[in-house]
Amino acid sequence: MRWVIRIEREEDDGELNTDSDAICIERSRLERAADLGLTLEDGKRIMAFLQKRVVTDQLGEYCKSSRRCSICAGPRAIKDYRQRVIDTVFGRLRVAAPRYERCRCGISRQPVSPVSALVPGRVLPELLQLQARLGAMSRIDRPPRSWRCSCQKQRASITLRPGTA
Ligand SMILES: [Zn+2]
Repeated sequence: MRWVIRIEREEDDGELNTDSDAICIERSRLERAADLGLTLEDGKRIMAFLQKRVVTDQLGEYCKSSRRCSICAGPRAIKDYRQRVIDTVFGRLRVAAPRYERCRCGISRQPVSPVSALVPGRVLPELLQLQARLGAMSRIDRPPRSWRCSCQKQRASITLRPGTA
């Protein structure tokens, strides 16, 4: 059996656009439990595929709207495109990011690179929060030598509460 996953995007006016890109999941005849359902690797592929499409579409629209000068509403000229790396919870993405010339009116102080201005550290906030939480958990799993004592009850009393990371 084979499953094809395509993305359909609905515009604000209701128009539907089906992506030509797709990913496939294939399975041979089911004979054992390990072949049943999606694997973790399938899930990673699907989420990376979705993330790439959603991020590309969102940034495309964001850059398009950022091109107009906020003062005189004139379009700024495209200087060039740079490849930017953005780390997300579903993996690392490479996106084409436009850089704009400063507006001819000379008044606007809009950023030259909207993508760099939006994601200056090139890491999305959810990934930073996840890394901080995991880092806090690993520190508690391995307390410094000075915390250790011969009494196991005291070590067992260290707990991680939501919001403490
Ligand atoms: Zn302007």
